Formats: sequence, C-alpha cells, structure tokens
Amino acid sequence: MKPPVFDYEQPTSLRAALESLSRNTGTFKLLAGGYSLLPLLNARTISPECIIDISRIGELRYVTEEAGTIRIGALATHDQVMNNSAVIRECPIVFEAYKHVGNHTIRNRGTLCGSLCFNDPTAEMPLIMSLLGATFVVRSSWGSRTLSANDFFKGPFTNSLMPNEMLVEVRIPRQPAGHGHSFIEISQRYGDRGLAAAGCMLTLKYGVVSDVRIGFRNLGEGLGRVRAVEAELENKAVNAAAIDAASTAARQSVRPEADMHADAEYRRDVAATLTKRVIETALMRAGQTSHVPSFSGRLS
Ligand SMILES: Cc1cc2nc3c(=O)[nH]c(=O)nc-3n(C[C@H](O)[C@H](O)[C@H](O)COP(=O)(O)OP(=O)(O)OC[C@H]3O[C@@H](n4cnc5c(N)ncnc54)[C@H](O)[C@@H]3O)c2cc1C
Repeated sequence: MKPPVFDYEQPTSLRAALESLSRNTGTFKLLAGGYSLLPLLNARTISPECIIDISRIGELRYVTEEAGTIRIGALATHDQVMNNSAVIRECPIVFEAYKHVGNHTIRNRGTLCGSLCFNDPTAEMPLIMSLLGATFVVRSSWGSRTLSANDFFKGPFTNSLMPNEMLVEVRIPRQPAGHGHSFIEISQRYGDRGLAAAGCMLTLKYGVVSDVRIGFRNLGEGLGRVRAVEAELENKAVNAAAIDAASTAARQSVRPEADMHADAEYRRDVAATLTKRVIETALMRAGQTSHVPSFSGRLS
C-alpha cells in the first residue's frame, strides 16, 4: 500500500527540528530510521498531516562516554550502540539483547531512541534501558527535562513525551563493577519478534546478592522491572530456595494475555522458567571479567 499524502519537513539541526515541532499545530510525526513508522504509514494505520524527518541531523548521531556515563544521541543507530566499545565493556547486556533485535539491515538504520519512543511491547531495548537505570533527556524549544525510565515509558506503544517534545539523548550511568547479567528471549523462529523475554543484572559479594534488577518484556502491560521478583534475592544469601522463590514471584507478578501465538498460562510458565535461567546465568557471570561478549562487528 502507499502512504497517505503528507507535508514533509527535513530539518538539518536540532534547533530547526525543535522549531518545526513548536510551529506545527496539526497532527505530525517525527521520522528517524522509519522502520516502525513507515509500515504504519503504508498501511494507513496513521495519517499525520506532516512528517518531520530528523534523520539528517548529524549532531544527534553519537555514542560517547564521559566520566563513566554513556551518552547516546537520538539518531545513533542500533548498530552504532551495539558495537560501541564502551557499551560492550560497561554494559554487556546491551550487546546480548541486541542479538535479538531484527537483523543487520534493521539495526543499520533503526535508532535506539526510535525504538524507545515507539515502545513496542516486544521490543528489547525499553527493558534493557530500565535495567541499566538509563535516563532520558527530552527537549522542546522551551527547554529540557530529564526523565527516568519509569516516568518515560507508559503503556504499550506510548511514552510521556508532549507533542512539542523530542527525545534527544539517553544516558546510561556507570554500572556496578563486576556485575553479572543475562538476557533471554524466546520466539517461534530466531529473528522473529519475541514471545517473551527476561533480563537480570546483579552483583555477588561473599555469597550475598545485591543491586538486583529483573524485568520482563511482552508479559503484560507496562512491565519493566518487577520489584516483587527482585525482592526475593536482594541482600540475601544465594541458594536454590531463593531462586525458586524469585521464579514463583515472577509467575505471580506477570499479567500476560493470550494471543494467536501462546496462551496466558504458557506465558506465565515461560516467565517462571526464564527468571530461573537469567538469575543462574547472571550469578555465574558475576565477578568475572571474561563475560564481555565476543563480536565480529567494528569497534566504534
Ligand atoms: C522487519 C522488522 C523487524 C524488526 N524487529 C525488531 C525486533 O526484533 N526488536 C525491536 O526492538 N525492534 C524491531 N524492529 C523495529 C526497529 O527496531 C525500529 O528501528 C525501531 O522500533 C524504531 O526505530 P526507528 O529509528 O526506525 O524509528 P521510526 O520508525 O522512525 O519512529 C518510531 C516512532 O518513534 C518516534 N520517534 C523516533 N525518534 C524519536 C525521537 N528522537 N523523539 C521522539 N519521537 C521519536 C516516531 O515519531 C515514531 O512514532 C523491527 C522492524 C522491522 C521492520
């Protein structure tokens, strides 16, 4: 199908983009990589009066590290983030999760910030950014504000941006030294969108677990980190009983819906099983330095 008719603007600076956002009073959409927006336009699921194409704003295409904080600009592509040396070194869970995001073509053009703004319940990165405690810098021509993941993400396919605002940067703080991580997703075929996913980060000192972060994707509305699951491990001695308790808490906490791919009971079983697996893997990796993933991409 073909998209409906729309006006088209292509600002080449952040300032011009923010001016476009404040000037436009009708319905409009920002276009970044286009991999989520264009299918909706072509299917005429949405019919904005204007498209503001921000893909040429070079000043927003960066991944940098400053004083332990990783800063990712609005137009950094998935590939740029995935293969960045600081990201690989400091937060290996990003690389692990990215292996499930589409394929190379998608990651080569799609942007991290586009994925976060779109907030598809099957998308991996909203969960990963929540686990990492990332913050979101939002700008309009009137100023800027910084939001936590909790405040940025709303329900499926929604976020808390005002119409005249755009996400300009994601900031990932320094992660606990020697933390263990794990992200596991199941799908019907490799590369398909995930049926369900779980992620875990934790640190282990003298057999006691701390800094526990556990969350899920596509297992119920608005799920990110689930405190009831984390509480079963936080500041506790690690043993099989604690892991079982976390797994049971996961089964009770998720609120999956049935769809054509799987019923809700199956998804609850998956939540319990994935919880166990991500905790065990994260524990195994905690304190090791050799869990930095091998990769065949280019360091940037
Ligand atoms: C075949 C296929 C498979 C895919 N598989 C996966 C997958 O497995 N996992 C996954 O996570 N994703 C997947 N995707 C989606 C892909 O990751 C997209 O790149 C991503 O969801 C959106 O990024 P984008 O840059 O393309 O954003 P766009 O499509 O350009 O925009 C998406 C939305 O975000 C808004 N937006 C974009 N940037 C900003 C900004 N800076 N501020 C405010 N609003 C903004 C747009 O207005 C739009 O509403 C897949 C896509 C395709 C086509």
